[in-house]
Amino acid sequence: SALHHFVGKAAPACTGNTENATTYNEAVPKTYLNADLHCHSVVSDGTLTPEQLAQRAAERGVELWALTDHDEVGGQHRAAAAAKAAGLDYLTGTEISVSYAGSSVHIVGLGFDADNAELTQGLYDNRNGRGPRAREMGRLLEEAGIPGAYEGALRHAGNPELVSRTHFARFLVETGVCSDTYEVFRRYLTEGKPGYVSHVWANLRDAVRWIVDAGGVAVIAHPARYDFSAIEEYALFSEFKQMGGQGVEVITGSHRPHEYVTYAEMAKEFDLAASRGSDFHSPEESQIDLGQLPYLPSQLTPVWKLLQDRIQRA
Ligand code: AMP
Ligand code: MN
Ligand code: MN
Ligand code: MN
Repeated sequence: SALHHFVGKAAPACTGNTENATTYNEAVPKTYLNADLHCHSVVSDGTLTPEQLAQRAAERGVELWALTDHDEVGGQHRAAAAAKAAGLDYLTGTEISVSYAGSSVHIVGLGFDADNAELTQGLYDNRNGRGPRAREMGRLLEEAGIPGAYEGALRHAGNPELVSRTHFARFLVETGVCSDTYEVFRRYLTEGKPGYVSHVWANLRDAVRWIVDAGGVAVIAHPARYDFSAIEEYALFSEFKQMGGQGVEVITGSHRPHEYVTYAEMAKEFDLAASRGSDFHSPEESQIDLGQLPYLPSQLTPVWKLLQDRIQRA
């Protein structure tokens, strides 16, 4: 497909220079912007503060940034201020945990009003189940011979309302049970493994509505990560679109290069705008750093085109 021609083209060198941006002209596809619209801070399961992330993004050549903490907008005002200080254009962001067809699906919201009451209440309710879930995970891990995991995970959590599996993973690495967080997920924290607790998150319709009613755009996060059949995936995309969703992540740190092509085709088939984001969590854990991904394929509509009036300009 013609998409192969552009998928895989590298982003500009990560020296923090803006030369590439200033030499853009009409011949440069509008998708060639170093936008990073997916990452996590200590407000969810990242290890850097919003300020450290803004600095790091600027150093790596990011031009448009969004902080997308899980089920949280508590870092948005800090992130927007830090973006301004670092010379980055900014979009508000979050990544909402959703249950769909018996699986967890993540929906990224971009460009919403971070103070919207329905959105903040919905996110608060979604976070609320995490406490009991984490205590149950601690109990199950204790049964599996690993004591103190709940307290250990809490120590790693920068936000007591947002204890995630990632914090348990860090505790199990810290105590030497596993050598890295990938091993923890594989052995303990995924379905069928001793520390896994199934959980019911927000439904898709509510998550999309919270984002859209707050003035933002809803985006299906890392679609290749879900274990759906072709029929289930088709249903997800169709229903999402019908509910008012407008975007899908095509270029993400959670996709392999061949998946860039698959989801570029899906974006075209469903007439969805395309998003790009590293899903960066931590310098020690993340394979892909901020801003270090191929550009979006030039044939797609970049999600930021739908959000021009929502961007806070540096
Ligand atoms: P939670 O929201 O508590 O279910 O935790 C989900 C988070 O765990 C994701 O956002 C990722 O940061 C991380 N995660 C999920 N699956 C894996 C995996 N297989 N390997 C490493 N990290 C994972
Ligand atoms: Mn995460
Ligand atoms: Mn995710
Ligand atoms: Mn994420």
